[in-house]
Amino acid sequence: MAARVHAGPELGDGFRPVSGMDRAENLVRLQRKQFDLLVIGGGATGAGVALDAATRGLSVALVERDDFASGTSSRSTKLVHGGVRYLEAALTQFDRAQFHLVREALAERAILLRIAPHLVHPLRTVVPAYSPVQAIFYRVGLWLYDRAAGKAAIGRSHFLSRKKMLASFPRLRRRGLVGGVAYYDGQFDDARMAIALLVTAARAGAAIVNRAEITSLLQNAGRIAGGCVYDRLSGRTFEVRARAVVNATGPGSDALRRMENPDAAPLLAPSRGTHLAFDRTWAPRGDGLLIPKTSDGRVLFLLPWQGCSIAGTTDIATEPSPSPEPSNGEIDYLLGQLGEWLEQAPDRAAVRATWAGLRPLIAANAVRTADVVREHHVEVGPKGLVTIAGGKWTTYRLMAEETVDRAIQTAALTAHDPCRTRDLVLAGAEGFHEQWAEALAARHHLDGDIADHLAQAYGALAENLLAESGGNGTRRLAGNHPYIEAEVGWARRHEMAITADDVLARRTRLAFLDAAAAVAARPRVEELLAAPD
Ligand SMILES: Cc1cc2nc3c(=O)[nH]c(=O)nc-3n(C[C@H](O)[C@H](O)[C@H](O)COP(=O)(O)OP(=O)(O)OC[C@H]3O[C@@H](n4cnc5c(N)ncnc54)[C@H](O)[C@@H]3O)c2cc1C
Repeated sequence: MAARVHAGPELGDGFRPVSGMDRAENLVRLQRKQFDLLVIGGGATGAGVALDAATRGLSVALVERDDFASGTSSRSTKLVHGGVRYLEAALTQFDRAQFHLVREALAERAILLRIAPHLVHPLRTVVPAYSPVQAIFYRVGLWLYDRAAGKAAIGRSHFLSRKKMLASFPRLRRRGLVGGVAYYDGQFDDARMAIALLVTAARAGAAIVNRAEITSLLQNAGRIAGGCVYDRLSGRTFEVRARAVVNATGPGSDALRRMENPDAAPLLAPSRGTHLAFDRTWAPRGDGLLIPKTSDGRVLFLLPWQGCSIAGTTDIATEPSPSPEPSNGEIDYLLGQLGEWLEQAPDRAAVRATWAGLRPLIAANAVRTADVVREHHVEVGPKGLVTIAGGKWTTYRLMAEETVDRAIQTAALTAHDPCRTRDLVLAGAEGFHEQWAEALAARHHLDGDIADHLAQAYGALAENLLAESGGNGTRRLAGNHPYIEAEVGWARRHEMAITADDVLARRTRLAFLDAAAAVAARPRVEELLAAPD
């Protein structure tokens, strides 16, 4: 298709300036009034709850101990998916509940593609088959995946010949390959999605602060009535009062539950998942690869992402930790498994970055079986603390809706509006269209990869970002990576980025893709963060 070059959109209604993410101002707001809802945790779940509640007309505060999405929510596989492995369980165990779960997540996938079209996009993923029986098994399974999506399908699965499989993944092991099956899922930038949710919530009036840790819960007449906040930047402590408090602390949920009830039995059994990042040559054609069975019976993904490739993941039971690290054993395991399916295994030198995240899995013995199948669990504690635990990124919106319903019910809150998040587009999505990157490139004389990145990360707000930098910020932050200097000031002014890590790991994703490049870029990022406006 020929590039459609046009003058581009004007700064109008679609370009409302980003507001509400001023940390100093929000700290004052937190202490000034009583809120309807205090949300603890600024990952996918907390951000989703804050947005849902604020757009129902409730007054909302959100505090995050570290940086937004610095927990599990920046460390996922980046898939917006129903979960083909759940489908396998549904098929092999004739489990209708699992099938329902897949359907529910696929419906959410369609919603996210609609409300954040800049951040979430369809990804074709291929599954190699080494016998005709395997090919038929995958074909039937993925046909069912299409069926489960129904109207929410984003593309039909289909057989691929051996030649087409190799065209898609030239490094695939050739011996015995008969072909494969392609299917479609969604892929996204997890940390930027969390930022988009929070910015949208802030616009709707939520008072949001990072580096603010809840150290204890306030009580009034035996009910939870807020939290004691430790401001990790100033060292000061203050109270936030709220009619209802939501614990959305992911793998840290049990620690918060014990603040309400020291005897609370654990709800979670966290599991660590590690990923490796490589250059783009490992997934060179824009398709993802699903490795259907590792030696320990799991699935593994090798996916293109942000001009590089990522592979994961592992599954190791572990204790909660704010900064989980991949072990050497996990890195070797992942390299070894890739080697089983590729002509040549990547070696340690090919690994550009690694990261690990903790799945906030619900312990099987903690709740009723039906709830375990639901993946997430909303609980109201003995003094009214509402805990939302488990789930996955793809279903954050649904989890938020259920949680806000429960909080309204528990604390008898008055919401002016019903839940609106099904149709509420996120910051950056207003006015955004598919040709945005082309228009940006033409208007600002940008390299194609930079324009693509800006359009995908900021949507329509990329225009504001470039306008604000007055044309001076288009220098790359690191090598051939598409991240540019203008993003640093934008992150500080509009996205509450405070440290170089905030910028390098979560506003841009350089640290997740190329650790050495991130180290090299750090001094310049620090300099730009310190520069006056
Ligand atoms: C390896 C891996 C791969 C995954 N891949 C996918 C995928 O591809 N697709 C998908 O849909 N899902 C995926 N998931 C699941 C998904 O990432 C998680 O379900 C989701 O990110 C959990 O978000 P959360 O907000 O509940 O937790 P978190 O993101 O961990 O957020 C909790 C926040 O609470 C904060 N906090 C804790 N204690 C306090 C306190 N006392 N005061 C203030 N703040 C506090 C923490 O700092 C943290 O930021 C994956 C998970 C893992 C581990």
